[in-house]
Amino acid sequence: MSLRFLDLPARLGATLLQAPADPAASVQSLLLDSRRVGLAEGALFFALRGPRHDGHHHLAALYAKGVRQFVVSYPPASLGPFAGAGFVLVADTLAALQTLAAQHRAQFAGPVWGITGSNGKTIVKEWLAQLLSPSESICRSPRSYNSQVGVPLSVWELSAARHTLGIFEAGISERGEMARLAAIIQPTFGLFTTLGPAHDAGFASEAEKLGEKLQLFAGAGFERLVYCADQPLVAAAVQARTLPALAWTRHDAPAAALRFRLKATSVGSTVVRVRLGAAAPDLLGPLDFHEPALGAATRFTLPFADEPALENALHCLAVLLLRQLDPATALAPAELQRRLLGLRPVAMRLEMKAGRHGCYLLDDTYNNDLAGLALALDALGRQARPGGRTVILSDLLESGLAAPELYARVAALLRAHGVTRLIGVGEEITYELASTSQQAQLLAQEQFILQSYPTTEALLADLHAIDFQNETILVKGARRFGFERVVAALQQPQHGTVLEVNLDALTHNLQHYRRQLRPGTKLMVMVKAFAYGSGSYEVASLLEFQRADYLAVAYADEGQQLRDNGISLPIMVLNPGPDSFGQLRRYRLEPEVYSLERLRDYLQAAREAAQDALGPLPPLHLKLDTGMRRLGFAEDELPALLALLAAHRDQLPVAGIMTHLAAADDPAHDEFTRQQLAAFARMAAAIEETLGRPVLKHALNSAGIRRFPEAQFDMVRLGVGLYGVAAGAEGEDNLQPVSTLKTTISQIKELPAGTTVGYGRRGAATAHPRRLATLAIGYADGYDRRFSSGAGLVLLHGQRAPVVGSVCMDMVMVDVTDIPQARPGDVAVVFGDGLDINELAQRIGTIPYELLTNVSERVKRVFVSE
Ligand SMILES: *Cc1c(COP(=O)(O)O)cnc(C)c1O
Repeated sequence: MSLRFLDLPARLGATLLQAPADPAASVQSLLLDSRRVGLAEGALFFALRGPRHDGHHHLAALYAKGVRQFVVSYPPASLGPFAGAGFVLVADTLAALQTLAAQHRAQFAGPVWGITGSNGKTIVKEWLAQLLSPSESICRSPRSYNSQVGVPLSVWELSAARHTLGIFEAGISERGEMARLAAIIQPTFGLFTTLGPAHDAGFASEAEKLGEKLQLFAGAGFERLVYCADQPLVAAAVQARTLPALAWTRHDAPAAALRFRLKATSVGSTVVRVRLGAAAPDLLGPLDFHEPALGAATRFTLPFADEPALENALHCLAVLLLRQLDPATALAPAELQRRLLGLRPVAMRLEMKAGRHGCYLLDDTYNNDLAGLALALDALGRQARPGGRTVILSDLLESGLAAPELYARVAALLRAHGVTRLIGVGEEITYELASTSQQAQLLAQEQFILQSYPTTEALLADLHAIDFQNETILVKGARRFGFERVVAALQQPQHGTVLEVNLDALTHNLQHYRRQLRPGTKLMVMVKAFAYGSGSYEVASLLEFQRADYLAVAYADEGQQLRDNGISLPIMVLNPGPDSFGQLRRYRLEPEVYSLERLRDYLQAAREAAQDALGPLPPLHLKLDTGMRRLGFAEDELPALLALLAAHRDQLPVAGIMTHLAAADDPAHDEFTRQQLAAFARMAAAIEETLGRPVLKHALNSAGIRRFPEAQFDMVRLGVGLYGVAAGAEGEDNLQPVSTLKTTISQIKELPAGTTVGYGRRGAATAHPRRLATLAIGYADGYDRRFSSGAGLVLLHGQRAPVVGSVCMDMVMVDVTDIPQARPGDVAVVFGDGLDINELAQRIGTIPYELLTNVSERVKRVFVSE
């Protein structure tokens, strides 16, 4: 079925501002987020307006991406730039979106389930889809698309041709919202999960919120609502509205037709016995509901024992039983049971993960309200671990209760569930726990530990210092607290190798070198080779922020990448390829030119560039070879160079003259270095005289800055020192290590005497028993194979552990016999903080530069700063 764009004015009561070039243009998909243009063809963009966002600002960008159909609530300044695109004008773009979705829904004749309630909507929806999908073709809301914009997008996917059933969630936070969602979903069946305090803020009372939610089921074609009658408020409201319903109960609630008796097994499952309640016949209305309709099986086994899962599974069971009443949807009891046993936890809610130091983590960062907390504490309560029960809890949001009362309830819940430690995160919880009697209530328990942090960042900074051992930790926070970071920090790491880049240390080192510069000397920073392995873009943006004057990279591609990431500092390219002039010009990258041949190429390119309108070539830096014998004009080529410069002075935009020192770090070669500097000064003076003007002269690298302050000229080129590594034998006390390569212990092995280790059995047997740790790093991560057999070592618990046997591709073994506290998951420092990279480099006969730049791209870079 397709909707023509030209039908929209009539469908939406809208004004046609501009007809599309193709009168048959049709709407295939709805688009709300200008950043998420998938297929532009057939996309209809609704320019929504919110408090901080206006979709109308993105019309031109969308047009550029190929979008040609627009619904707006005010016209663009001019339709001129939108040739061929269709525009309709409506009073309210959100209302128009909803109207269109509602019209779309009305064309679907099959059953549609609407699910609402405070908790569990998404899981129940996912489970119903799991349970019913073998016999139905289901359209359901993606993830938890249950809002004023999520519901229209979900319903739009419903297709009479493809689907036999729809299941949609509806979530509201204010009065008036449910009526709009009901008009879009038009459910024929409904499920109400629970009434909890989530999203209370927009309502005057529980009753008002409940009344609002039940409006989802008030439409003309509505057939039946499934709900749990164990919540008296809900049962009373459903009855007062005489909604056709099928209620279930675990506690003999009088309104319920379905009575469930639960019995936990010893193997983590629960047996449910189903009976019909006395009230059943009247409440069931036109349905002929009697026990034989359930078939032979009135007992079912659910594959769960924990409370939140059971509650949600019982909702689903009730839906399945309702469908048993209709011969068209009834299943053989054995099949019904088979499907129930196939239910799997839905990951988006409460996840159990292996944590460090024998802990288990219950990861519930999905929402945070009182009802959700109670359910999560139930799950926590079932975990008995020797280290006790810890809860890391953020401020509770949107509960509708005043803070003192809210946190009094929290304290009571924690106490009731045997929580032994609470770590509160957030201004509100910190304040409440510090200032009121809840604290007294909690601390009255023996050995209760209470800690609080104003922000998640503060907790993260302190996390390593908290002694977690063998406990179950519930991590529960509202989304905006980003508690996934807390979970990640507490979790048993998977591939635990990271290069930690300390941006504060980088800034410190930058200032350290800055202080050594004379006033007016410019600073160029080398960010070649991925900023010496540490991540070029992040380092470059910090340098831009710290007002470095220039950056330098080795190749034009590296420069382009920095420009693509928004770096606007001048960038010099050490070794631009012969055909990179276009790239240099487009991205304003200044080449180093090191031979007459390359200078003639440049001249030729400059002449060609003068013929088009794209602007001149970027300025260049002449590289002089004063002793390195690598790249550059040697002194005997100077006359030829000067002749060329003199002849084409106006076409060759020379920005700088440079040379590179061969041994600035080594006092043994100081005489040579001075000769280099003298040659540079001589040649540069001759060039400047020929050009008739001064240009930027630069010669010093990191070691040169430290050792030859008199040779700073106009600019210096800082490299390895910025990254915290002192080049040369003299060392440098004031630098801080920037990059720390860390990995983790995957396994510990106790080896008897006489055991060999690793490939080729190169880890020789010893006469005494040993304890070995296998680390998650190998030569593919950049851990040099020359570190094999004791040449290398790592730092564990502050102690040195030597490498045993050969370094493997992804792993290496180290001896931890003398570090008895080492255990799986522990972090080992491979180089950096506490383990000097200079020493390690010397041990295998190389230089720190190589170790830094060898860290492979697969190793995650983590940037830290205060
Ligand atoms: C890499 C490089 C530098 C920086 O050297 P460090 O020893 O890392 O300070 C300076 N100039 C040129 C031309 C370079 O290639």
